[in-house]
Amino acid sequence: MASEGNSGPVAGAWHPPGSSRAVAAALVAEHGQAVVTSDADGALLASGSLDRLVISSRVGSIPRRITFADGSLFETADNDAVDRWLEVRHGRRVSFIHKLERLHPRLVLFVGLAILLAAGIYRYALPALVEVAVAVTPPIAPEVMSRGVLASLDQTVLAPSRIEEELQQRITEQFRSLAALTQRGADGYSLHFREGGVMGPNAFALPDGTIIVTDALTDLAPGDDMVLGVLAHEIGHVVHEHTLRRLYRAAGVSALIMLIGGDIGSGLEDVLTHGSALITLSYSREQEREADRYSIELMARAGRDPAAIADFFEILHDKLGDTDNSDFLSTHPATPERIEEARRYAAEIAAKRAASPEVNAH
Ligand SMILES: [Zn+2]
Repeated sequence: MASEGNSGPVAGAWHPPGSSRAVAAALVAEHGQAVVTSDADGALLASGSLDRLVISSRVGSIPRRITFADGSLFETADNDAVDRWLEVRHGRRVSFIHKLERLHPRLVLFVGLAILLAAGIYRYALPALVEVAVAVTPPIAPEVMSRGVLASLDQTVLAPSRIEEELQQRITEQFRSLAALTQRGADGYSLHFREGGVMGPNAFALPDGTIIVTDALTDLAPGDDMVLGVLAHEIGHVVHEHTLRRLYRAAGVSALIMLIGGDIGSGLEDVLTHGSALITLSYSREQEREADRYSIELMARAGRDPAAIADFFEILHDKLGDTDNSDFLSTHPATPERIEEARRYAAEIAAKRAASPEVNAH
């Protein structure tokens, strides 16, 4: 059977060792042995174990050269037959590596570089593309995206809030006075109360400054300052454009290229399709740290407790532990280091403010 490396005679030319003289010959491979006989008189010209033959690489339709141990050489244009012997030599199936081995070294290098490039795109180009996309995003886009995401969330996971009107109004007023201290001002943000269902105690920001807080979070926080500390943290995500970056990262390379390339329509559509899933995506640790610091600074400037966000994380951690993975902790992991870092920074800011109350001018 051909699949076992036995094959009928393969026609070619045999060259004696060190000679360019060509003898019309045939090679038969049987039971791992290769035998070359002369076409003219059937004389044995060369033989050897298939394992020990040196077989040239396949390059297009160039004839293959099979070198025997005695230095004689058999040349044939029947590349497929030679490949079948090689398969037998390397086992039933030619593995990817063996295919690579048979390639020209330059091709191997090229394949290696291509793999590196693909890895590089994810490591370096994706973040770069995200930055470019943020820079070229028309001001209207975050608004369109956010409206789309909130609408789809309202149709799926979110339900109208059951927090009493009075409390909603009080928190909203305090939220607006916090937001008034930011560059966008109070009108740059809008706060929405929602029953979050499976989302548990949660708060999240959309790129246009829309901030959604779930009833479970409002219930959990024992004082207004803690809710505000969380909201200030979300404002931090908006200010640093983390939300837009997160959206773009999730959209992926192809959507970003479309977006940057000016095909805003389909790029946006792609982003929106991913919209509802986005809220379950995590921010990077660095983004969380940035938002924590923003909350601490903003709360201090508003004359509120700068450590409120750290207090809130502690309560959340105590009440929920690490078991629930649909809550605020899953998208904003509150490690002990993070809580400690927030406390340390809050103390630093508080001390600065005590030393020079004008610090809040910037
Ligand atoms: Zn966060």
